[in-house]
Amino acid sequence: MFENLSERLSGVFDRLTKQGALSEDDVRAALREVRVALLEADVSLDVTREFIKRVQKKATGASVTKSITPGQQVVKIVHDELIATLEGEGDPGALKIDNPPASLLMVGLQGSGKTTTTAKLARRLTEREGKRVLMASLDTNRPAAMEQLAILGGQIGVDTLPIVAGQNAVQIAKRAKQQATLGGYDVYLLDTAGRLHIDEALMAEVQAVRDAVSPRETLLVVDGLTGQDAVNVAAEFDGKVGVTGVVLTRMDGDGRGGAALSMRAVTGKPIRFVGLGEKTDALEVFDPKRVAGRILG
Ligand code: GDP
Repeated sequence: MFENLSERLSGVFDRLTKQGALSEDDVRAALREVRVALLEADVSLDVTREFIKRVQKKATGASVTKSITPGQQVVKIVHDELIATLEGEGDPGALKIDNPPASLLMVGLQGSGKTTTTAKLARRLTEREGKRVLMASLDTNRPAAMEQLAILGGQIGVDTLPIVAGQNAVQIAKRAKQQATLGGYDVYLLDTAGRLHIDEALMAEVQAVRDAVSPRETLLVVDGLTGQDAVNVAAEFDGKVGVTGVVLTRMDGDGRGGAALSMRAVTGKPIRFVGLGEKTDALEVFDPKRVAGRILG
């Protein structure tokens, strides 16, 4: 995902660390290249600007240029700022699912990987945390999506709410809650309907479901390959329904990675998980330190 960015930055920093003494101009020139590399990776302009400003502030002045390894010092500052840009508060993998049955609302556009991610999370909660999990699809417009979730449930050994024709999303959500309560489930995941674009009807439906079940977590699933669009989608969903975190999918792809770097800074919401493939075990807790390490190669 970050190959291009990583390559660009390692070129800049290789040159910098080979030099002995650094002037403030050297640092400034290097940061200009970092700026271009970030913009090319589709990091938003504001985030890039702020990032460079913070690094510049820490890197200029006596502390860096007079240190024994000035180049490495600059790299360390960039590394630390990358982590600060990516990091939210608390453990991204710790879902608030105490007090059973806890509801987990999955929202996002059609094709973002929402249904797959629902199954991935259900599998994770079942296998790693020993939770009893129920999944329900609320996508009444697309019977195939409902069946897809049932098939995935069968594959991973997680129960899905039986499909009842003619019910609307809120009715299904309430039925899921009831079934989760009566059936002694720890958590129920609601896979809401997506649309190709954000529209009022979609938001109204998600809001109605949210109001019906008061979810403990609302996770937005966005396609990491879509760069700044992913960030815009997140900002809109958060404004309309309020999300507690983001899952970035397709991070195994060859996108430029800008969505990951802009997400928290623009939306204020942390990335909680990343999708790294189509299989139901291809989900990882988002790890800012590892991502920063990968970006710096
Ligand atoms: P939905 O419409 O949002 O529910 O999207 P789906 O879950 O049906 O996913 C759409 C397509 O993206 C499917 O072919 C998934 O296998 C694929 N997909 C989902 N997540 C990932 C991921 O993290 N990496 C890759 N490579 N493919 C993914």
